[in-house]
Amino acid sequence: MATQGSVLALGKCLACLEFMLFPVWRGIGAGSSIRWTQGWERYLKWELASREQGIRIPILDYPVWLILCRQGHTRLREVCQRGRGVIRLPTVKLSRLFDINEVPKVFREDSIISGYRHPQSSALDCILSSFHMNNETINIWTHFLPTWYFLWRFCALCTTMNFLNDSYAWPLLVYMLLICIYPFTSSCAHTFSTMSPESRHICYFFDYGALSLYSLGCAISYGYYVMPDCWLNTWLHQYFVLIAIGNTLFCTSMSCYSRFVELQFPKRSKALRTGAFVVPFIFDTVPLFYRILLCFWGGCSSSDALSNHCYHLFFAFLTGFLFTAHLPERLAPGRFDYIGHSHQLFHVSAVVGTHFQMEGIIADMLSRRAWLQTHGLMPSFFGTIGALVVSLALNLGLIGLFSVPLLPNALQASGQQQTSTCDSKEQ
Ligand SMILES: [Zn+2]
Repeated sequence: MATQGSVLALGKCLACLEFMLFPVWRGIGAGSSIRWTQGWERYLKWELASREQGIRIPILDYPVWLILCRQGHTRLREVCQRGRGVIRLPTVKLSRLFDINEVPKVFREDSIISGYRHPQSSALDCILSSFHMNNETINIWTHFLPTWYFLWRFCALCTTMNFLNDSYAWPLLVYMLLICIYPFTSSCAHTFSTMSPESRHICYFFDYGALSLYSLGCAISYGYYVMPDCWLNTWLHQYFVLIAIGNTLFCTSMSCYSRFVELQFPKRSKALRTGAFVVPFIFDTVPLFYRILLCFWGGCSSSDALSNHCYHLFFAFLTGFLFTAHLPERLAPGRFDYIGHSHQLFHVSAVVGTHFQMEGIIADMLSRRAWLQTHGLMPSFFGTIGALVVSLALNLGLIGLFSVPLLPNALQASGQQQTSTCDSKEQ
């Protein structure tokens, strides 16, 4: 009897201790008059508040692990069943798509007949549209996913190279940064290009700016790693990066300007924009062309680097061809609106080309290190990171100059979209 009594006393003490230490477990009403199970029911009950109070979010007063310990599975199922009907997941209303004759001229694409988004979409609509098939969806993803691929390669290089202290790696650092930035900017430009005509222009100004900075990244890395042996320390080698900075200014200003004449003179606009990108490409690639020619004439042995450079050149020409030819949609307008039109192929070709270019640059950098360090110019801070910073500032200034006349209308349109969104929510 004495033992039974002491066991009961111990049980009561433990119950008291539990109540004192963990009152939340037992719920507010789990005093002496209410049994444990009643406490559970009371505090796991999901109730709708009155209409005046609005919908109250149910709060679970018990730690999750406790639910899982003491007949928790049953309780949890019960709670979930009660919760069904109380919780309503937000519903997403996707906007309808438009045909070419339903959108303003500035949004129209050559031989793309359908799948246009609303020309005054909100920022949220634009983001949601990337998950909803339209004629821009694949354009967005074909540059968004490669951004992560290049970032992954960049992070992997960071673990093997000393980008902070080894100045020989700085040209590669600049190049890797820019090949992560240009597809990301392009993806953002395609996503937000349907907020208003003015926003569309500004989005593509940034896209062109990122591409022209990418041309600087190519010039810096080619200048230090890819330059043919016989051109080292020549005047071209010494001023290569400086001329490339000038090229970025030419490229950004010409390509941005081409958008202003697009509606009036579409052919002139296309020629200006194509020229804007071809000039820096030819300038950057001249040393590589010469090196490849020397190899064909028997001046060098083939290497991994050169084969990667050749693949890159092939894809670079394919990219240029797709950009200007508008094939295959020109052959069958309307057939390739969603999948397979030239801009998507242009994106894919550009990214594959960049991949081979990156491999070629890395192979040259590693294999020519000893020779370049004894015979060539060592990369300086101002010739690499400094050049990038100066060029970035100048190009942002140019984009600002081109955007200033468009900004008032762009801001007004964005304000109107916000008001209409609020109105529709209130209704
Ligand atoms: Zn694009």
